[in-house]
Amino acid sequence: MKAYIGLGSNLGNREENIRKAVELLEKSPGIRVVKLSPFYETEPVGDIPQGKFINAAAEIYTTLFPPGLLAVCRNIEDALGRVRTVKWGPRTIDLDILLYGEEVIRTSELTIPHPLMHEREFVLRPLSDIAPDAYHPVLGKTAQELLKELWKL
Ligand code: ADP
Ligand code: MG
Repeated sequence: MKAYIGLGSNLGNREENIRKAVELLEKSPGIRVVKLSPFYETEPVGDIPQGKFINAAAEIYTTLFPPGLLAVCRNIEDALGRVRTVKWGPRTIDLDILLYGEEVIRTSELTIPHPLMHEREFVLRPLSDIAPDAYHPVLGKTAQELLKELWKL
């Protein structure tokens, strides 16, 4: 299955954190990283005062099902020393599953497509760089279309 992972970091050596996360993804059984977007420096969103983020997106091919992929993402976050404090607070690394093929998943653990991806330029911009035609199965639009819509607002 083709899937997209959104990566973000705003603590420590941010580029290094993202590069290491990609390396760990690549090393995980059942995951092959096929594309990595440029890195973007972005302003934090929300009310919590915190430093700027570096964001990127990766295209992967995976034999894992979504829960297995989520487990890998959480393990990588832990391995890179992410400490869970406040929701949407600063983090050394955040890995979100943006899209998993064109599947729609809604469980207590997992929402795919990622519920806020279409509102976030810091997600759509790197995603559109590597996969302008990646299709959002709920909104019925591509990454590039969603990004253009954001810019129109
Ligand atoms: P956020 O990324 O929203 O700032 P976290 O990274 O702390 O928050 O995510 C907490 C939980 O969100 C994860 O442990 C996971 O169970 C859940 N989650 C739901 N949908 C997704 C998704 N598409 N990708 C990653 N995590 C998800
Ligand atoms: Mg997350």
